[in-house]
Amino acid sequence: MTAKIMDGAAVAQQIKQRVAARVAELAAQNFKPGLAVVIVGADPASQVYVGSKVKTCEALGLYSEKHALPEATTTEQLLALIAELNQRDEIDGILVQSPLPAQINARQIYEAIDPAKDVDGFHPVNVGLLTQGQDTLVSCTPAGIIELLDHYQIPLAGANAVVIGRSDIVGKPMAMLLLHRHATVTICHSRTRDLPEVTRRADIVVAAIGRKAMITGEYIKEGAVVVDVGMNSASTEKEVRTIFSDEEIPKRLEIIGKRGSTLVGDVEPRSVIERASYFTPVPGGVGPLTIAMLMQNTLKAAEQRRG
Ligand code: NDP
Repeated sequence: MTAKIMDGAAVAQQIKQRVAARVAELAAQNFKPGLAVVIVGADPASQVYVGSKVKTCEALGLYSEKHALPEATTTEQLLALIAELNQRDEIDGILVQSPLPAQINARQIYEAIDPAKDVDGFHPVNVGLLTQGQDTLVSCTPAGIIELLDHYQIPLAGANAVVIGRSDIVGKPMAMLLLHRHATVTICHSRTRDLPEVTRRADIVVAAIGRKAMITGEYIKEGAVVVDVGMNSASTEKEVRTIFSDEEIPKRLEIIGKRGSTLVGDVEPRSVIERASYFTPVPGGVGPLTIAMLMQNTLKAAEQRRG
């Protein structure tokens, strides 16, 4: 079996078109959803993510503003900014880019965001509502994965789904969303015994681990659907030849030649493609969906908050 690619970039494009169409309708009523993005320090990856979030807002017609604070910012200073953004009516979504510098109490920051403006879905109120199966602002990456599975009409009810990773941002909300769609869900983590034995029972595997190409074909049941959340990098020819399919190898080597490294997920495509029925590529799978869902969440927060 050779797995079909689930094209996250194409599905993300459809979601963004839907958001842009609704934003245009609202603009005719002088209503513009607004997102505030806050970044502390100069982490290069965070700078790229924040830049693309602001750019996507502009492309879809949403208002956005970026608050770039110095590395030495204190918890109190950041709390003061959050309080101000919570108060401003034209700001519907507040996103504080992680990771935050060590001196900042991240939990206190995320809990200070008005749950109605919590477009990342990290606030305990939104997490609680998600657990209860109520409509709320849900963490963007897992929400995007559900959109992707639905787009490809992957049956979820009754399916055995294994989520590898139990982070608050990806693993746990992913498991909850799959559970609400009536999948039988198993959550795995670093203490799980005999992980391949558990994952080989799964009809759907979601890998959110942060370990380069860890999930090989031997973890996957013939015909399973494999979603790769991981974002890691490979920089040697040897890695590229082990991880990627023959078709992909020249492209990846060219990327390493130009940029010094190439993006790799938590799944090893070379062996998994031979067993899975569907899989998500990295890049071009889950990543684009995350940003599309952020736009959708900002629109949703605006409509719910301001009627
Ligand atoms: P975390 O580091 O918060 O969580 C990783 C999870 O993987 C933990 O629960 C950990 O277990 C588990 N884990 C680690 N090693 C193993 C192992 N050997 N076997 C089984 N489980 C293991 O990461 P995130 O959830 O934030 O992110 C996961 C990956 O997804 C990262 O690569 C990240 O960059 C990427 N990501 C991609 C996004 C996108 O838009 N594409 C968005 C968000 C994240 P334990 O709890 O026991 O430590």
